[in-house]
Amino acid sequence: MPSLDPETRRAISDRIRYYNDLGIYDFYRQADQAINIAPAFAGEGAGARQYTQELAEPMKIAQSSDPITALRQIREDIGDCTRCRLSKQGRKQIVFGVGNPRADLMFIGEAPGADEDEKGEPFVGRAGQLLTNMIKAMGLSREEVYIANIIKCRPPGNRTPERDECETCSPFLMRQIQTVAPKAIVALGAVAAKTLLAINAPMSELRGRWYDFRGTKLAVTYHPAFLLRDPRQKKETWKDLQMVMKELGLKAPEKAPA
Ligand code: URA
Repeated sequence: MPSLDPETRRAISDRIRYYNDLGIYDFYRQADQAINIAPAFAGEGAGARQYTQELAEPMKIAQSSDPITALRQIREDIGDCTRCRLSKQGRKQIVFGVGNPRADLMFIGEAPGADEDEKGEPFVGRAGQLLTNMIKAMGLSREEVYIANIIKCRPPGNRTPERDECETCSPFLMRQIQTVAPKAIVALGAVAAKTLLAINAPMSELRGRWYDFRGTKLAVTYHPAFLLRDPRQKKETWKDLQMVMKELGLKAPEKAPA
């Protein structure tokens, strides 16, 4: 059995526990870094190498304290991802996230659509235009907030993401949230809300109140794509956004969103 010095072992276990507390259980290996450590145990059998790589993993995801660098590291760790079936189902590119790496407010949607897949940026289609207007109505700009999705690849035909796709992708979103460290998160629509909160309830019950998401305040509101189909719900959405504005100390602008 390979031995690590007690200090390294403790540091590694602490790091694993820290990520487990954040709900992260899957760690993805970057071959070159694992190889740096594995040779120390070469000759001790496959089991030893496996053990070494497992322990080495959390070291790899130790992140920079600078959010710009940390986000870049997360993007690099995702790489040209093939971890789930979506990589083989026609997605053009990974849609990572956009906005202020130190944003007070983070919006989380469901999955990229065709426009986002084309451009590599979340919420740039019709629903995105509405989200941009909602953000402006809050007295903010797209550049001031951070925008991401539960999953980073477009599902074929814009179908709802499968649970395993969300689970495979969400460790990266958790790291983005941890890095940006917003004061508040707005989950857009049922998929984002249910994935983040692990609650199965209709949107009408989920919205309109605060949740504690691992120490960060989280509000749920309707997805902009749903609002395009049912504009009557814009009024309720505006109430949710006003609740967020109050929490962040944002002054309500004169005009409600169009
Ligand atoms: N819908 C989403 O949930 N996310 C996007 O990025 C675009 C549309």
